[in-house]
Amino acid sequence: MCFLRIIQFECKDTDKKLLFNLWSSLKYTNFNATIQSIDLMKKSIFLFSFLVIVLNCKETGEHQAVESDSDSGHIIDSSNEKAEFSIVIHGGAGTILKKNMTPEKEAAYKAILEKSIRTGYDILKNGGTSLDAVTKTINVMEDSPLFNAGKGAVFTNAETNELDASIMDGKTLNAGASAGTTNVRNPIDLARAIMDNSPHVMMAGNGAEKFAEEQGLQLVDPSYFYTDNRFNSLKRAKERETIELDHDDKSAFYDPTIKDYKFGTVGCAALDKNGNLAAGTSTGGMTNKRWGRIGDAPIIGAGTYANNATCAVSSTGWGEYFIRGMVAYDISALMEYKGLSLQEASKEVIQNKLTKLGGTGGIVAVDNNGNVAMEFNTAGMYRATMNDKGELTIGIYKK
Ligand code: ASP
Repeated sequence: MCFLRIIQFECKDTDKKLLFNLWSSLKYTNFNATIQSIDLMKKSIFLFSFLVIVLNCKETGEHQAVESDSDSGHIIDSSNEKAEFSIVIHGGAGTILKKNMTPEKEAAYKAILEKSIRTGYDILKNGGTSLDAVTKTINVMEDSPLFNAGKGAVFTNAETNELDASIMDGKTLNAGASAGTTNVRNPIDLARAIMDNSPHVMMAGNGAEKFAEEQGLQLVDPSYFYTDNRFNSLKRAKERETIELDHDDKSAFYDPTIKDYKFGTVGCAALDKNGNLAAGTSTGGMTNKRWGRIGDAPIIGAGTYANNATCAVSSTGWGEYFIRGMVAYDISALMEYKGLSLQEASKEVIQNKLTKLGGTGGIVAVDNNGNVAMEFNTAGMYRATMNDKGELTIGIYKK
């Protein structure tokens, strides 16, 4: 009876009925043998049937929706069901520690993450495209001084702001990217215009700015991008360079607001009701960058990738390593050529490949069934996701 109790909680009704019928028929069977051997046979058959049913029940459980926090990140996997639509965002990964956060700052980050993702969620819910959801969601983060994208972008060594962005359409494999612009208010809009209205994939510097003007995009005076926090970050990075005299690459990422190394790029990946995937990424790059340095964010395959056959990915982290590792495309390729799930592919690329290369950062991604991955090898990553039921998950730190 104790067995039946367990089954009551873990098995389907049909299995419970089957087990009950089996037990009843065995109970009333009259075999032509000794009472002991009948009893033994009844017990063996019952035990055998019980094992078969329990194993069956366990397998059923594994196909149900799973929500789990791994050490490395947050994976939401509803492998059995295809979601109607799905969206996930990041606002940068790095050494983001709770002990360095004030409750006010944490609340401010959470509020803007929620505002951003709800923008994209509403578009998707109303039947809009994943490309529009990605663009408009990123616009909200670009307009917030909290993130290293648009307003709030980090400073170069020359005390300027040079912004990079990219977007990709998973249906057509079209893509657009802009690099090193200084006066385009929302670089993700420029990336989108390059994809939609030009024969090219990537434009840089003055040429990209000229194109933005022709497209009627909003241009701003470069001082628009100024924030005290980011300017102080540059000063600190320069001081550290002089004091330490060791040109440690990490000093380029020092951010006094978090009191540690951190990145702050923003990105979004989405699946729409038509089954189309899209991803986009926007950034100011890294503090104290020089010589026209361009990171992974505008590189299709490194910072951004989308393909309806597999997934859509946006990266954040130490750009040089994401370029060498072709991180975003690598996740898609593992799914396409090796048949890995989004969860497996993301983990392999971030925790194994990127980490072995010496790179730090993370990705957010969504596959063509609406499963979401938020994988990172840093202490934290600003992140949020919403499913088609309107359930919102926001995270900052590694659990
Ligand atoms: N990946 C960006 C870059 O290297 C930085 C970031 O993610 O914050 O330019």
